[in-house]
Amino acid sequence: MSAIFPRVALIGLGLIGSSLAHAIRRAGLADTITGYARSTETRAKARALHFCDAVCETAQEAVRDADCVILCAPVGAFAELAAAIGPALKPGAVLTDAGSVKMAVVRDVGPHVPDGIHFIPGHPIAGTEQSGPESGFAELFDGRWCILTPLPGADGEAVARLTSFWQGCGSRVEIMEPKHHDLVLAITSHVPHLIAYNIVGTAADLEEVTQSEVIKYSAGGFRDFTRIAASDPTMWRDVFLNNREAVLEILQRFTEDLTALQRAIRWGDGDALFNLFTRTRAIRRSIIAAGQDSPQPNFGRTPPASG
Ligand code: NAP
Repeated sequence: MSAIFPRVALIGLGLIGSSLAHAIRRAGLADTITGYARSTETRAKARALHFCDAVCETAQEAVRDADCVILCAPVGAFAELAAAIGPALKPGAVLTDAGSVKMAVVRDVGPHVPDGIHFIPGHPIAGTEQSGPESGFAELFDGRWCILTPLPGADGEAVARLTSFWQGCGSRVEIMEPKHHDLVLAITSHVPHLIAYNIVGTAADLEEVTQSEVIKYSAGGFRDFTRIAASDPTMWRDVFLNNREAVLEILQRFTEDLTALQRAIRWGDGDALFNLFTRTRAIRRSIIAAGQDSPQPNFGRTPPASG
């Protein structure tokens, strides 16, 4: 494929930034990739891994002459980063991001975008519990959705180019309003992460069950929560601080439904439990049918070698 953007700048070189670099290289979506990360340590690791053509000492240097700039840092850093890079952006460039919330990104980045820059917020719905520049891989976005939330009056040609870019990374692209994005992600990602953080925290604090028992018997279900609860603390702190309204709305519903389940258990209402568990099983099957997970039992895990 020929380059969609001759020069792409990645600001933040962790799981998402490094995966993007690998995916861009795989498909030849850019001639040159520049990058920037906050710490000298991460910049040194990124240089050693060679997924960028140049890792710069400042964000301004990284975005100079870039045709597309992608913010891949935690969303809490976006306001400061946007203020720093705004004056250095090339006229006509596309400025986008990978942040997990969208209303707050529009709020924090929007005021720093100079005229003549195409600001198109985005969010790839793809990730793992790993972080850092070593964790990236080219296939991360394959078959996964990427949501773009262009603002009213956005340039159609710029949106089309960014859409082709994400498709070149392996994604399917959907356009959405930022507010709707935040509500959809609150139920599909943010509240599930909160529940995982909570249950793992509860288990860690239980005194009647020893820590070693929690770990030893984790295959009963607990370990599947621990994968999610191992996700990056900075990123997830920023997600909850920046999607407060939608998360609290979904949590309210969740709490009501949990109370109904509590009541069903207390009153021995087996039908209520059975009916819910039947409906939820169907949702798992729809996710597999939509190609968003493997049909293999136990997520395709192989049992550990015995002995
Ligand atoms: P990550 O692996 O922790 O990497 C974050 C990167 O941002 C690091 O290179 C970090 O540099 C850099 N950074 C942090 N603060 C910075 C600042 N103030 N200025 C410049 N760079 C800074 O995180 P990630 O998983 O790639 O997530 C990046 C973004 O993608 C987040 O906005 C997240 O919401 C979004 N996202 C994540 C996932 C996921 O599953 N992980 C999925 C979709 C979208 P240092 O190492 O030097 O601190």
